Amino acid sequence: MSRILLLGGTHEARGLATAFAARGLPFVVSLAGRTKADYPGEVRIGGFGGAEGLAAYLRAERISLVLDATHPFAAEISPNAARAASVAGIPYLRLERPPWPTAGAIEVPSLEAAAGALAPGTTAFLAVGAGSLAPFLARRDVRLVVRAVEPPALGDRTDVVVIRARGPFTPEGEQALWNAHGIETLVTKNSGGAATDAKLEVARQRGTRIVMIARPAGQPRPDAASVEEMLTLLERRL
Ligand code: NAP
Repeated sequence: MSRILLLGGTHEARGLATAFAARGLPFVVSLAGRTKADYPGEVRIGGFGGAEGLAAYLRAERISLVLDATHPFAAEISPNAARAASVAGIPYLRLERPPWPTAGAIEVPSLEAAAGALAPGTTAFLAVGAGSLAPFLARRDVRLVVRAVEPPALGDRTDVVVIRARGPFTPEGEQALWNAHGIETLVTKNSGGAATDAKLEVARQRGTRIVMIARPAGQPRPDAASVEEMLTLLERRL
C-alpha cells in the first residue's frame, strides 16, 4: 500500500492527517519544527537537507507519494519537495488554499515592502507570523502590535505589544482588539483559506489600511484547494 509523506505545518495538513488516520492509510507527517506537533500518526521533525536530502529520505523510507500541504508562504520546501519526488520517481501533489481577494488592500511583494508601506507615527497590527517580524522591528517610528502563536524574537524592542494566540478568530474578538490598541493598519500575508477572515472583515468595515503581502513566486502548481478536494483526488488515485 502507498506510504504517504505529508508535509505539514498548516491546519489543512492536520485535517489530512486526521482523515488518513481514520481511513487506516500509512503516512508520516513532516514538520519543520517551529510550531508544536499536534498530529495523529507518525511525526518526524526537522529539515531534510534540501531537495537531495529529501530525495534520499523518500527512497530510504519507501515513500510512494509526497503530499505537500505546507503554507503558501513556505517558499523553499515546496519546490524542493516537487524536485525530490521527481528525482525519486514518485508523484507529488500539492494542496494550496486559495488566496484572499486583494480589493481595497495595498498589495506588496515582500515583508520589506510591507514594512516600508507603514506610515510614521501610526499603530500597525502585524499578523504575519513570529518568524517574519525583522523588517518591521526596524520601524521604530511605528507602534507595533504583534499576534503570533509562538513567542516572537523582538531584538531590543521593548515597546512592542505581543498577543499570543492561535486562530480562528471571531469578528467580535477582532473588534475588541482594534478598540483596545487603536489599530490603524493591518499587515497580513495573503495566506488565504476560510472564505471570510475575521481580521480582514473588521479592517474593511472600519476602513483600516490593509497592507497585504503577495504570495511568493515559483511555488509548484496546486492540485487541490481544500482538504475535501485533496481527499477526493486521492480516492481516485490510491
Ligand atoms: P520554508 O522557507 O519553505 O522552509 C525552510 C526550510 O525548512 C526548508 O528548506 C526545509 O529544510 C525546512 N522545512 C520546511 N517545512 C518543512 C516540513 N514540513 N518538514 C520538514 N522540513 C521542512 O518554510 P517556512 O516558511 O520556514 O515554514 C516552515 C514550516 O512552517 C512549513 O512547514 C510551513 O507549512 C509552516 N508555516 C509557514 C508559514 C509561513 O508564513 N511561512 C505560516 C504557517 C505555517 P531542508 O531544506 O533542510 O529540508
